[in-house]
Amino acid sequence: MATENIKLFYNGKFFTGSSQKKEIDKMLVKDKIIKWLGDKSEPLPPVAKKAINIDLKGKRVIPAFIDSHMHGLYLARDSKKIACTPPLINSIAELQQEIKSIAKDLESGQWIEGWGYDESKLAEGRNPTRIDLDQATKDHPVVITRNCTHIAVANSKALELLEIDETTPEPVGGIIEKDEKGRLTGVFKEIGKDFLFDRLPARSIEEDASLLAEFSQVLFSKGITTITDSLARKYPVDYYDIYQEAIKKGLKQQVILYYKWRDLVNYPELPQSAADPASQLSIGGIKIIGDGSIAGRTAWLSKPYLGDSRETGIATTNQAELAAAADFARKNQLQLIVHAMGDKTIDLVTDHFYPEPGWLDEIPSLRIEHITLPSAEALKKAKEIDVAFNSQPIFVYAEIESYLNNFGKERTLKSYPYRDILNQGHELAFSSDAPATAWADPANPFYGIESAVTRKAYDGTNTGQDQSLSVRESIKLYTEVPARITGLKKAGKLEPGYYADFLILDRDILKIAPESIGQTEIEATYYRGEKVYQR
Ligand SMILES: [Zn+2]
Repeated sequence: MATENIKLFYNGKFFTGSSQKKEIDKMLVKDKIIKWLGDKSEPLPPVAKKAINIDLKGKRVIPAFIDSHMHGLYLARDSKKIACTPPLINSIAELQQEIKSIAKDLESGQWIEGWGYDESKLAEGRNPTRIDLDQATKDHPVVITRNCTHIAVANSKALELLEIDETTPEPVGGIIEKDEKGRLTGVFKEIGKDFLFDRLPARSIEEDASLLAEFSQVLFSKGITTITDSLARKYPVDYYDIYQEAIKKGLKQQVILYYKWRDLVNYPELPQSAADPASQLSIGGIKIIGDGSIAGRTAWLSKPYLGDSRETGIATTNQAELAAAADFARKNQLQLIVHAMGDKTIDLVTDHFYPEPGWLDEIPSLRIEHITLPSAEALKKAKEIDVAFNSQPIFVYAEIESYLNNFGKERTLKSYPYRDILNQGHELAFSSDAPATAWADPANPFYGIESAVTRKAYDGTNTGQDQSLSVRESIKLYTEVPARITGLKKAGKLEPGYYADFLILDRDILKIAPESIGQTEIEATYYRGEKVYQR
């Protein structure tokens, strides 16, 4: 006879995420599912007699996090690369030192990669260039990616191996930067960066799968039980195959992929039963990149960036592409998610789809990701056609220097108007977009929550206090809402019938000073009723 797996968690402070009225202090879990929740006055159900009792010692409990916009594979890969962000790297000189020290342990010709630099945080205040990287090594190919992931820098050895030179034609929508003498600076922007990365030597599926499997535990330590890949590739390798292999190797999180539209154009076949959110790995939708980033001055704006009256960013999509992707999404019953930061791009998307209703019944057909600077008109149209928003409060928190330098103070305060968005009844989720943030711990949800609550950057700069949310709202935006907009069933809340996916915190996030929310640590993570992480 199989022993019954029943657990009674007692003496906790539960934030269930549902419209709870009473002070829940006990939760009964059978196998993977929550069976019952109760307060001090309620008698336990009879089945509790068979339960293993677990004392939560008065700790705060919240639902586990669902990161509905991140780049799981990049994040796992980055765990093996140079983190070019403070506190490790504070200048180009320190970056050069780090490359040198890594290079001396490698055989000549082996690649060195880095991620996460932000020139506004570097002492020199500029992008590193080919020449800077050459000074660190001429024997090893080096590629360093900016925190926005839309810009990268390569050294001469990398360019030589990839056969890119002054005569290489620039791809449409991309920049292969040259200096005034026509020499390559080593900097690649937008589609130019993709052009560079498409030429990098591919890792084997095995290597990537192992990295992801190894990374699973790190994600649990941050309380993340559902991950996404918001720019999954079909080419040169199908990410579906990588994640499938990673799951075999021990990746435990639920995974949702969003395929890059430009890959689907050439490789439109989808894995079988891919859209089934009940399986551990599923295809959630299609991703279009509509513009760049604020930090890279490439988000598409109606008013120019600070310091150059001609600079308004770039559009990296158009009506024809939106129409073609929406058509494919409709036929395959997938969601379409569009990266749109600048007001011009957000307008382009909402104008294009308005006033047509969506094509999905259970979840929003269209999502706008980031939604940095929406116009009032765009918000109004988006509401009428049920567009969901997915945004990252960690961006302005971690990249405040870039926002002030590129947007100026007034526009920074108007960015990410979360209070207005919620008050107008929009569906809004939070996520990390990790590793696309200049923050050494980019996937940590507590920094995002702190930012949304305090509306202050990491250095205390005001980022728009009139738009602040409560801690409860912010947790829901990282748990309940992402479950809803991605179509995850029985997840994101602590309620009978839901999965027992929850976190025990080291401090009471609902009571502490909001400025210290980012410091919150997870004592234990439970996934499907089992403890998967203990501090
Ligand atoms: Zn992203």
